[in-house]
Amino acid sequence: MTPRHLPSALAKPLVDKFNNPLADPNPQLKSDAPLQPDSPTSGVPAPVNFSVSLADLNARLVTYLSPEDVARVNEAYLFSQAAHSGQMRVSGDPYISHPLAVAAGLADWRLDAQALSAALLHDVMEDTDITKEQLTERFGKGVADLVDGVSKIDRIEHQSFEEAQADNFRKMLLAMARDVRVILIKLSDRRHNMQTLGSMRADKRRRIARETLDIYAPIANRLGLNALYRELQELAFCHGNPMRYRVLEKAVKKARGNRREVVSKILEAIRTTLPSAGLDAEVMGREKHLYGIYRKMREKHLSFSQVLDIYGFRIVVKDRPSCYLALGALHALYPPVPGKFKDYIAIPKANGYQSLHTTLIGPFGTPVEIQIRTTEMHNVAESGVASHWLYKDEHGISQVQQKTHQWLQSLIELQSDSGTASEFLEHVKIDLFPGEVYVFSPKGKIFALPRGATVVDFAYAVHTDIGDRCVACRINFETSPLRTELKNGDRVEVITAPHAAPNPAWLGYVKSARARFRIRHFLKTQQNEESVALGERLLAHALHEMGISSAKILPEAWDRFKKESGVRSKRAVLSDIGLGKRLPAIVARRLAEGLDVPSTSLTAKLPRARQAIMIRGTEGMAVQLGKCCRPIPGDPIVGLIRKEQGLVVHTHDCPVLAKLRSERGNWVDVVWDVTTDHLFDVTIRVIVKNARGLLARLAKEIAESNANIIDVSVEDDRDSTMLYFTVQVTDRVHLARILRALRRVPEVLRLARYINPKH
Ligand code: MN
Repeated sequence: MTPRHLPSALAKPLVDKFNNPLADPNPQLKSDAPLQPDSPTSGVPAPVNFSVSLADLNARLVTYLSPEDVARVNEAYLFSQAAHSGQMRVSGDPYISHPLAVAAGLADWRLDAQALSAALLHDVMEDTDITKEQLTERFGKGVADLVDGVSKIDRIEHQSFEEAQADNFRKMLLAMARDVRVILIKLSDRRHNMQTLGSMRADKRRRIARETLDIYAPIANRLGLNALYRELQELAFCHGNPMRYRVLEKAVKKARGNRREVVSKILEAIRTTLPSAGLDAEVMGREKHLYGIYRKMREKHLSFSQVLDIYGFRIVVKDRPSCYLALGALHALYPPVPGKFKDYIAIPKANGYQSLHTTLIGPFGTPVEIQIRTTEMHNVAESGVASHWLYKDEHGISQVQQKTHQWLQSLIELQSDSGTASEFLEHVKIDLFPGEVYVFSPKGKIFALPRGATVVDFAYAVHTDIGDRCVACRINFETSPLRTELKNGDRVEVITAPHAAPNPAWLGYVKSARARFRIRHFLKTQQNEESVALGERLLAHALHEMGISSAKILPEAWDRFKKESGVRSKRAVLSDIGLGKRLPAIVARRLAEGLDVPSTSLTAKLPRARQAIMIRGTEGMAVQLGKCCRPIPGDPIVGLIRKEQGLVVHTHDCPVLAKLRSERGNWVDVVWDVTTDHLFDVTIRVIVKNARGLLARLAKEIAESNANIIDVSVEDDRDSTMLYFTVQVTDRVHLARILRALRRVPEVLRLARYINPKH
């Protein structure tokens, strides 16, 4: 470009303005001159025809695909055309124009034949009757998987999401895609939809523009697709904010004309300096795109002219050392602004971007932003992931068809000398294969959970109360067990019950730290409260047996006891008793030491006033119900205190208990607390004649008696079958009702409550 000199009459006001950018926020702009020829076009070219013909596509394909691959892509075209025949776009174009344009976008990135075929077919599963099986049969699993991947994302897209959750939504899309080509197809799809957004209703345009800014532009940026990133932002700005867009567009056009002379002067200076340092460099002026200007004005609270008064240049050289040489030469030409130099060559950005950035103080004190990079870095900067396909020719195309992790592998090679390659890979991996799974609540809120997370994890992520009270769930409207592993995009609805409580078994499968912590916390707190309460009752009981009222035990006695046994608190002692770690009779005796109790009364009981201990069955760890006899409310019961076991409750007629007569001294009177609303497990043994479908009929009778079946086992004999149902009942009356109902079934020979002698 030939340098032009500023007419002296114009020079003066420009100098003033550059030295004092605040002085003139709305400069008089006189020239309407066109952009510099070598700067990338900014803004959205309004009246451009975005339609592509099959011939256009093929012209691009033959430059890098084998004739067989081109034929394969054409076959996909014909298939898609037939499937979409008769369908129109909102613009009035035949539908096939859309997949064709999407494929053309991918051809510019030189993607492989599978990706191109999938691009042509990307809407057939959603918009026509074609199934994945048909695609697999016709085009192979690779293509079918890609189309399926894009369709899955489309389905998610149609669900609403909260704006603040854009980040999770992006991750969800990336996690669902699995293959980076799915994302590339989706991005090309979005670009064409944005390009043809003009025919949509205004409100729909704004919504889609917003979504593009929140979701798709950042994904493009994450993948290093800078050109697409800018284009999507520009299109979204244009459609989402048409008024501002037009005002800014006009102002920039005017301002550029005015500033052209300064640009030429700096450009010329740089172009003379670099060769004299022995460098062969390509120098370009960089025009900021409108959205970038708009965002800078908003985020940095700058005026229009302040933003526009920063000039940008890009220098592309042949190799890495030249980058640093060019930097040195430029720092000698104009002084750098301290603190503005950034070395993204030594430390690349997470998306693979590499360049040297520096800001110089140019003529008239105007800031000049410089980017220095090699040709290869430039390609990566513009096309990111896709540059892998773009510049792989010499190694052959077959390699290109491999899956994402191989692509990642090649990125390592690409970055191997950067020193932070593994870190970079970590970033890409986290986004493409996150250790996380993303699911929806019924209201459309997205939750990120660790991979392998179950419904219980989800319930705790929603709220501790939901977690503590969850009993069942529906995943995608289907009833599922609580331990079901969640998949990306699942819609999860938790069903709670007011009296439900966390089950220690959940600890066996929850994945999130939060759920684990909450369940443990609940069990511990509950156990603690209950064991303290139980311990207190057991101790009072033991003291009573000695003829002492617990009120007689003074704080001094407790202090002495604590000191002697080295425990922290009275609570800890009571909890120990409740948990069976200490025997109440021993604690009682030591507490009573030195108390003015006639020695005779230690053996002579007080007049009959034995207090039974009330149990509810909800005491958790502190009270155990015998697994042998499975006592339920209404059963006469007895408690047995055994060290390390705590209080174990048996029925009076339990055969296991009968064997423990020698431990009679540790028996405690217990009674049911009638207010209990807990459900108790009890096993019923049913002996039936062999009969088909009987199990289902018996299960139905049980269910109709309002009881849950938690386990069924079957023992077959020669001519009869024994069925063991473990059911949950409220009490003996409930159990009797179930037994009556089962007895009515003709095939039932005998049935009874079952006591398992093995426990
Ligand atoms: Mn589409």
